[in-house]
Amino acid sequence: MDSLNKLIEYFREFPGIGPRQARRFVYFLLTRNSSYLEDMAKLILDIKKNIRICSSCFRFYPEEKSSLCSVCLSPNRDTSQLMIVSRDVDFESIEKSHVYNGLYFILGGTIPILEKEPEKKVRLKELKDKISKGNFKEIILSLNITADGENTAEYIRQFITSNFPDSGIKISVLGRGLSTGSELEYVDKDTIKSALENRS
Ligand SMILES: [Zn+2]
Repeated sequence: MDSLNKLIEYFREFPGIGPRQARRFVYFLLTRNSSYLEDMAKLILDIKKNIRICSSCFRFYPEEKSSLCSVCLSPNRDTSQLMIVSRDVDFESIEKSHVYNGLYFILGGTIPILEKEPEKKVRLKELKDKISKGNFKEIILSLNITADGENTAEYIRQFITSNFPDSGIKISVLGRGLSTGSELEYVDKDTIKSALENRS
């Protein structure tokens, strides 16, 4: 395979990118000058060096001295609330809405329907650990309103109730305003706000 097609194949592996878009990316890169491409290549090479994963909520954050991200370190967050999201992009959508001030946990994926090994798809062990170390009154499941997202929410709800049967933790899900097929990543600020206020 020539380098053009090889690069197209790389872009095709990106989330949400089809063959036509992958091809457009590569042709776009071909129109850029060398310094643009060098800068970009360098950023890609360095991305893992400068970004680390928070040991408490498991989100990616720019490297600082601490092993915790700014949200987990902040003294101003409400530590009685934990929001569970699938990916970093969902965390970003919620943070941008400025209506949630609790803590987070990034599952790292979703559990497809009929999945035989859910523990390989999401961070279950880490979630159990996070909940047992915390003092949460409420856990909010903020997952996409898609088949996989809803299956994940149901699985996680059962996982929490069976592992922490007498904790009295309230488990809620995002409410009105989110229609079927909604992916949090693409939902606007006001809709997230209303879905959070109307959680049940
Ligand atoms: Zn964190």
